[in-house]
Order: sequence, then C-alpha cells, then structure tokens
Amino acid sequence: MQPIFPEYIQFLKSHNCDVDWFHENTFWLDNNIVKAFRRGGQVVLLYRVSVDDNLHLTLTKHKQNKNFDDFETWQETIQRNRNRLCQIEQESINLLQQYGLHTDRRIINTNSTGKDSMVVTHLAKKAGLNFETFFNVTTLDVAESNQMAKRNGYQHIFPDPQYGGFYQYVHNSGMIPNRFTRFCCQYFKERPTIDYFNADDKLLFMFGIRNGESNQRSNYEDIIKNPLWGNRDWIGVLPIRKWSELDIWLYILAEDIEVNPKYKYGYTRVGCGIACPYYTKYTWVLDKFWYPYLYNRWRDILRNDFVSNNKWLIMNCTIKEYVTKAWTGGVFRTEPTDEVIQEYAEHSGLDIEVAKKYFNRYCSNGCINKRSQPLKIKDKNTLAMNMKMFGRDIEKFKCKKCLMKEFGWTQEQWNKQVNEFKNQGCRLF
Ligand SMILES: [Zn+2]
Repeated sequence: MQPIFPEYIQFLKSHNCDVDWFHENTFWLDNNIVKAFRRGGQVVLLYRVSVDDNLHLTLTKHKQNKNFDDFETWQETIQRNRNRLCQIEQESINLLQQYGLHTDRRIINTNSTGKDSMVVTHLAKKAGLNFETFFNVTTLDVAESNQMAKRNGYQHIFPDPQYGGFYQYVHNSGMIPNRFTRFCCQYFKERPTIDYFNADDKLLFMFGIRNGESNQRSNYEDIIKNPLWGNRDWIGVLPIRKWSELDIWLYILAEDIEVNPKYKYGYTRVGCGIACPYYTKYTWVLDKFWYPYLYNRWRDILRNDFVSNNKWLIMNCTIKEYVTKAWTGGVFRTEPTDEVIQEYAEHSGLDIEVAKKYFNRYCSNGCINKRSQPLKIKDKNTLAMNMKMFGRDIEKFKCKKCLMKEFGWTQEQWNKQVNEFKNQGCRLF
C-alpha cells in the first residue's frame, strides 16, 4: 500500500481515466486498487486499475465503493497510528544502537534510494550511529535514482568493468535476462558490493529488509549472515524487519523523508528499471509513459534478439508476444499457433508447409538433454541441414552432433557447408 501522488493521477488522466474523485494527501494504491481510510480507520476499496496485454489501461469503480466522503487525510492516519509509529521507531533505534553504537565494526549502509533504505538511513542518523552510505550503480537505474544518490552524497559502488554496464553486457553476451536465468542481480548488484569491501575488514551492514516482503524473508531475525560472504567477519542488521509497508509510508510522510520520484509516478519498486524480468504489465505501462525512450530501446533489443536467434522455434510465439510479455519467462507455449508459423515463414522466405517442419523437432536417434529429456533441435541451421540433405519431406530429424557424425564432418567442415548452402541462396538456412 503506497500513497497516491498527483504524478500518478496525471498518468491516469493521460490514459483517459476519470479522476474527478482525486484530492491530494488522502488516497492509497494497493495491488492496483485505489483505497482510502475512512475516519476511524476502516479501509475502503474505491477503484481498480486494470491493464490488458496490449497495455491498455482502465480505471473502474470498485463494487465496494459506496460513494463515501469521510476519508482520513494522510496526516490524520498518521495521528491515529502515532503510538505504533513511536513504538516501532524506538525499537528500531534501540536495535541499531545495540549493534552499532559501541562497536569496532565499520558500519555500512547500502541505500538504493528506495523507501525502505531511506527509512533505515533516517533511523541510523537518529540513533547517532557513525556510518557510511553506499549506492550500488546497477547501470539499470533510472536517472531519478542516480540523481537522488548523488544529491545525498552517497558513495558509489560500480559493477566489475569486465561486464561493462547492463546493456553492454546484453549486447556482448547475447543474453536476455528472464525469470529462470538471470545474471543481472548477481553481476550488477550482489557481487560488486561484496567485492568492493576488504574481506579482512569487520563490517556491520544495515539492510532495509522486511519480514512482510516475501515468504523467504518472513523468517529473518534481527541479524543475518549472507551465505555469499563466506568466512568474512561480516554481519547484517535488519532494523525495520517488523515494519509493514504502511508503517514505512506513514513514517516517511510523518518525518518528511525524501521520496524517490518513481513512487510518485506509480511504481512500487525503484530498483533496476525497464529490463528486470520480475516486472509486469502494470510496470510496463508506466515505463511506456514515463520513460518512452528506455521502454522502446529495450523492446528494440528484444525484437532484434528474437529475430536474429530465430526464437520462433524456441519460444513458439510471435515477435509481438515475445516483446510484450513472453521474454520474461521460459518457453511461451508448447505448440506454435498458425500465426507463429506464418510469421516465421514470412521472415524466412519459406512456404508454410516447409516452415512448419522447423517447429518442435527432436533428435530421432534418441539423444537427450542435460535434464534427460528428448533433445529438442532449436538451431535453425541444423533443421535446415536435415532437410537439405534428406529432402524437405522428411519427418525424422537428427541433432547436429548426430549429423556431423553421420557425414564425418568437423565443426569447421560443418560451418563451411552451412555457408556454402547459404551462399547458394538456399532459403532453408
Ligand atoms: Zn542426436
């Protein structure tokens, strides 16, 4: 649950939503439902924000919306929760002082400019701790976050130069991060932070992790040790682990803590813009509006990756499906639709009947993959070679290894043969 700022209303308005109901410092957004507190504290559901697969956004009145008009302002909600806020603030400060006031450890505050980090930084100041704040330059953050870190004088941690930035890495490696195989968190976030500090130093990290964020985090205690730290003498303290998201926002508003503009735009997270596969269409529609250049640049990268790697054959989806949603996950569907085959045929200059033959082929010699499943032939050249050598009518395909063995070709001879057929103008390749 996060506050709705005028910027988000501007976004809704530009999508033709009726926002006459809006007034400042009152409303909340929770899982795409507009909510408010009535005087006395009852939460009511007012509107629902929906986004379809074409990123068309609509705002509809919630069926529980009974045209209430006795809403609490944020300040009134803060007043009603004042005792709780005082109590959790004091508990957090006590914890920070317990571990950080008389310690021989160097105290490291990692701050992403997100809401939780900003609260931890604020609490650490109030606790009187002597700490240093670091901002991890993921190369995927939007300008607002980078500027906020700079403005506050945070020190910067950069990724390993061997990877370059995120976009450079994608370009050089040809890898698109998805939910099953992603490299970005590790290469651009976790590893650079660990490598930055001297392994022999005794460190105390402060993290803005909260138990309520996920199942995995629900069991965390006050002190954690990251398994990736190995035998370094580092510990992490979690001063706000018991805070709810509402606690965080009420405290930010009560203490006038700086808010990253991305939240005002309607984002629930500020980290790693645009290309994180964990975002959904609710974020993409925001990206398209607030960061059209970055939004389009990433879609161009996805489109080029799809076409140049013939991903029709891997994902069984169209270019549009890949660019709009399928890129975040694994194989999109098990069998290609007619539309997918049609698009692949057009792009490859093949007849439909021939194009069909490229999809879902397995090595007929019974080869298996690493997971002991039948080996799917995804490489267009291998599929083409089967048809070139055995005729376009064949039904049984063989994998590249089996073909090379059968013809007695080395990798070099294979490449030569493929290029020869391509140069002859064979459309199969
Ligand atoms: Zn085989």
